Amino acid sequence: MIAENLEQVRKNIEEACRKVGRDPKEVTLIAVSKTKPVEMLKEAYDAGSRCFGENKVQEIMDKYPQLPSDIQWHMIGHLQRNKVKYIVDKVKMIHSVDSLRLAETIEQEAAKHEVQVPILLEVNVAQEESKFGLRMDEVLPLAETVSSFPHVKIQGLMTIAPYVENPEENREIFRQLKKLSVDIEAKNINNVTMSVLSMGMTGDYQVAVQEGATVVRVGTGIFGKRDYLR
Ligand SMILES: *Cc1c(COP(=O)(O)O)cnc(C)c1O
Repeated sequence: MIAENLEQVRKNIEEACRKVGRDPKEVTLIAVSKTKPVEMLKEAYDAGSRCFGENKVQEIMDKYPQLPSDIQWHMIGHLQRNKVKYIVDKVKMIHSVDSLRLAETIEQEAAKHEVQVPILLEVNVAQEESKFGLRMDEVLPLAETVSSFPHVKIQGLMTIAPYVENPEENREIFRQLKKLSVDIEAKNINNVTMSVLSMGMTGDYQVAVQEGATVVRVGTGIFGKRDYLR
């Protein structure tokens, strides 16, 4: 089941790329495995997945030692500063940096562990009250400040678009994030790149790919519905 779902998602990504003349190799699929048991992650691994996304530090800690070491773990959820130390040397990228204080903590912990941590700045493009993330106008100033941090490397932007029935409703959100990344790239800030655009989930990843996503985060579409009562 998981292998078939993965195959379908990959096909959909390829088709979205074809529509707009993009190379599917430019798009990385993150299998969002939050709440799912290790056996299901293994199934996805056997079907070729190497990038997994989790939104809780504890869950990364639990799953990390139980799975092959060539997996790239992506922290995609809201991150508390007192937990940064547990994952700073385990994750490939932190997608959810939305404050200077958090970036400072990552810098301190990364220095202690002698690693450099790739991060994305999370942008609340739709300005939803219920969501974390920076306002559009806060992104450039934060990028400029964090650019001087030796152990943190900003590699792009991330957004969680609103839940909508029709994915077309989020196209404008994805366009705005893409435009912001182009604008920031044009500033040529030292130590900052905008090569990663993490946007698109099960409901809207095809649209996100058409609008320039380089990373899509798909959970339900691969592993099925999540049971939060588990
Ligand atoms: C849960 C989650 C996803 C995946 O959502 P689906 O709709 O199940 O694909 C993607 N990104 C983030 C940040 C998430 O928390």
